Amino acid sequence: VDGVAAVLPVVGADTLVPLVDGRRVPYANLDVAASAPALQAVADHVDRVLPLYASVHRGAGYLSQVSTALYEQARRTIGAFVGAREDDLVLVTRNTTDSLNLLAGCVPADPATGAPGRVLVLDIEHHANLLPWQRDTDATVLAGGPSVAATLDAVREELRDGGPYALVAITGASNVTGEALSVAAVVEIAHAAGARVVLDGAQLVPHRPFSLAASGVDYVAFSGHKTYAPYGAGALVGRRDWLDAGTPYLAGGGAVRRVRVAETTWHEGPARHEAGSPNVIGAVALAAAAEALRAVDPAELAVHEAALRDRLVAGLAEIDRVQVVRCWADAVDPVGVVTFTVAGYDPGLVAAFLSAEHGIGVRDGRFCAHPLLGRLGFDAGAVRASVGVGTPGADVERLVAAVRSLVADGPQAQYDVVDGLWVV
Ligand code: PMP
Repeated sequence: VDGVAAVLPVVGADTLVPLVDGRRVPYANLDVAASAPALQAVADHVDRVLPLYASVHRGAGYLSQVSTALYEQARRTIGAFVGAREDDLVLVTRNTTDSLNLLAGCVPADPATGAPGRVLVLDIEHHANLLPWQRDTDATVLAGGPSVAATLDAVREELRDGGPYALVAITGASNVTGEALSVAAVVEIAHAAGARVVLDGAQLVPHRPFSLAASGVDYVAFSGHKTYAPYGAGALVGRRDWLDAGTPYLAGGGAVRRVRVAETTWHEGPARHEAGSPNVIGAVALAAAAEALRAVDPAELAVHEAALRDRLVAGLAEIDRVQVVRCWADAVDPVGVVTFTVAGYDPGLVAAFLSAEHGIGVRDGRFCAHPLLGRLGFDAGAVRASVGVGTPGADVERLVAAVRSLVADGPQAQYDVVDGLWVV
């Protein structure tokens, strides 16, 4: 499973971290779903373009023209990465949250009543794909059923009997379980009912090939920092009409065609929503990550991550008192996110123990998915381990061994809660 690390190396793979007993060990980064380490290819590319950095769009100088070309080329690469249709818009945003907030402001009102557009969303979603719809549109939140099939039936029924809906907002992969509904099935059901589909691609796009054109999905949102690029840039890609008609996301320079004291004429296209100086380096880095990922056989990445995930699930399942969180037993091809609890131990203590005594980075809590954790009975939170292209098999073995030792022998250090955080 380690072959992928050689094909797509990430920066910082040999970082040593201190343990509570004074030893230093290689960091096992099993929190890739939160933010993935940057690819070496991305770091190298950013180094190359930093000296070319100058004002974009309105600068006449040579380097301004170069910067503008780099930015617009990055936009095209990002679009190609998610299979954008010819007429789709590619908006560079800050992250998935930003992208979904932007789209929420563009869902058209009901033409008959003028009421806010209706959006159907499941309770399995990350808050980023829930709260913008709740705040800015007329959202209905449907509880996920006991299986993928039952959940799809519930979505079909709601669209038929509770509609009309403008939009169905759905995750491409849960950040809690790695599972998802079938995107193809959701698109078919939604389009048959006259609704569009937006995919929260934050956990899908970095790990599986995805195409708007091939899937029929109308919009996709994703984050650079989960796609092996640094923080700061994300994207919203999709159908032009709603975006061209929607309220400009940011009001300011660059978004306007003409400004008079009495009246302002806004641009259409990406400029409408991208007022202010853009994140050129962020966009270029995201595009570099997209190119690097596209240059590798996607099956190789998927096999690598599936092997790591299977090993994690199997290893954890063998340990007494460990329970793995699942939404649906019939979900196919989950991404490399495995969430679990250890009976008798607070998830915060488990995470602190893994860090302090084993140099393993995981995440604990409710993962910005409170409705899902609540429905599944994990209101007290859980521990999440997640993997990606740079994860060696040894890191997964270290996690399984560490959890086994916790259950067998308990923690060796003393842990306390200070300001809400578990610490040694
Ligand atoms: N959706 C999902 C499924 C996620 O995992 C995350 C990040 N945890 C987000 C949305 C939000 O991403 P960001 O913080 O980059 O906006």
